[in-house]
Amino acid sequence: MINIPVSEKKRVVIVGCGFGGLKLARKLKNSGYQVVIVDKRNYHQFQPLFYQVATAGLEPSAISFPLRKIFQHYKDFYIRIAEVTSIDSEKQQLWTTLGIIRYDYLVLTQGASNFFFGMKNLESRSKPMKSVSEALDLRNTLLQNFENALAATTEEDQEGFLNLVVVGGGPTGVEVSGALADMRKYVLGKDYAEIPREKIRIYLVEGMNRLLMALSERSSEKAREFLERLGVKVMLNTQVRDYDGKYLETADGQKIHTNLVIWTAGISGARIGGLRDSAYGRNGRISVDRFNQVKGYSNIFALGDVALMEEPGFPKGHPQVAPVAIQQAKNLAANLKRKRKEEEMVPFSYKDKGTMATVGRNLAIVELPNARFYGTFAWLVWMFIHLMSIVGIRNRFLILINWFWNYITYDTSLRLILKPKGC
Ligand SMILES: Cc1cc2nc3c(=O)[nH]c(=O)nc-3n(C[C@H](O)[C@H](O)[C@H](O)COP(=O)(O)OP(=O)(O)OC[C@H]3O[C@@H](n4cnc5c(N)ncnc54)[C@H](O)[C@@H]3O)c2cc1C
Repeated sequence: MINIPVSEKKRVVIVGCGFGGLKLARKLKNSGYQVVIVDKRNYHQFQPLFYQVATAGLEPSAISFPLRKIFQHYKDFYIRIAEVTSIDSEKQQLWTTLGIIRYDYLVLTQGASNFFFGMKNLESRSKPMKSVSEALDLRNTLLQNFENALAATTEEDQEGFLNLVVVGGGPTGVEVSGALADMRKYVLGKDYAEIPREKIRIYLVEGMNRLLMALSERSSEKAREFLERLGVKVMLNTQVRDYDGKYLETADGQKIHTNLVIWTAGISGARIGGLRDSAYGRNGRISVDRFNQVKGYSNIFALGDVALMEEPGFPKGHPQVAPVAIQQAKNLAANLKRKRKEEEMVPFSYKDKGTMATVGRNLAIVELPNARFYGTFAWLVWMFIHLMSIVGIRNRFLILINWFWNYITYDTSLRLILKPKGC
């Protein structure tokens, strides 16, 4: 058993301090529970802006926030930085890389992992963007590719370094493709003046017949129009099949010569051992009822990306986006407080306030329940909403300054290739 002070209060253990875990923990302040947060990272990360780290627009520290700082003044809150590997529901214990942790109530909010549909070569050779470290790795690879392109002695070798392929036409794929196109236009042309700009090709490959499937057809069309205006080659109805590190192969037999494939095409619930197989639903997500209670367990809950809850408007579960995790966390915190008072729990119902995606400078798409808008105004709305969602005033300020600077100078100044020690 790892060291956590014993308390008379019941203990709520929260696995993961992303959007859902963070909101839940904050809402449980002074709730009469002892709260233990277990996360494998010692910081909360703001995933919607990973693509800006990957394209040298923001530093990782601007979108990450240390957990201990957030909870400095919370009483009877404990943080343990460890990976949870398994759950023993009989003994009400968690197995972690630090040791065992006992719980009274367990809340699983460990999010989602990359999913490659069984394509092992894509798994080992493409670059995903599901953590700050992966975004940083992507930035290093991208910049190193341009250095290698300059040194390449044949046209063919150079082509491989200059063809950039993004797989997956959801919001992340659209955003990263647009950011790469802006980078090509405003930054790479100046830094790598020896390379003709038209030699840098950006492909966005999507298996379905339109981008941004979760949005209306008009918004999908707008996203495509914006990207094509920026010079991105959008390939719809194109499924990828294999990647040997040099050529990306599609199911219809096309081959794209590239040393960089960015993977944004699939995620599945992040799995922790110990739950019965019957607890899992579609996409490796954990099946929960309308109270976020894991099916078949009375004191285990799951929320956010990892949870699969069906409600009338969402028969296949909710979209894996931050507002779902946040709203479920608020509802569960209120229900846990009700439980303490032996009151009835209230079922969750998702309020979809809208979806948005940015494509590039002055180009974004915003879809609200009763309105849609595109272009500069949408871009300003996108920036405002994202800025206000960032944890920490310092981070907000840093991002605002960065964005302002990038906007007026048409430049990002964070193009460092940071290598591990010894390289
Ligand atoms: C690149 C990208 C862009 C996105 N853009 C948007 C957007 O614009 N708008 C939007 O609404 N949503 C966006 N999303 C989705 C959004 O980030 C997720 O829906 C949201 O983060 C889900 O919150 P969560 O609390 O369920 O999980 P997460 O926020 O992913 O948090 C999971 C936490 O669990 C921890 N963890 C995982 N496994 C373990 C373990 N075994 N042991 C201990 N700790 C563990 C992780 O370190 C992490 O802190 C984006 C996602 C990505 C990847």
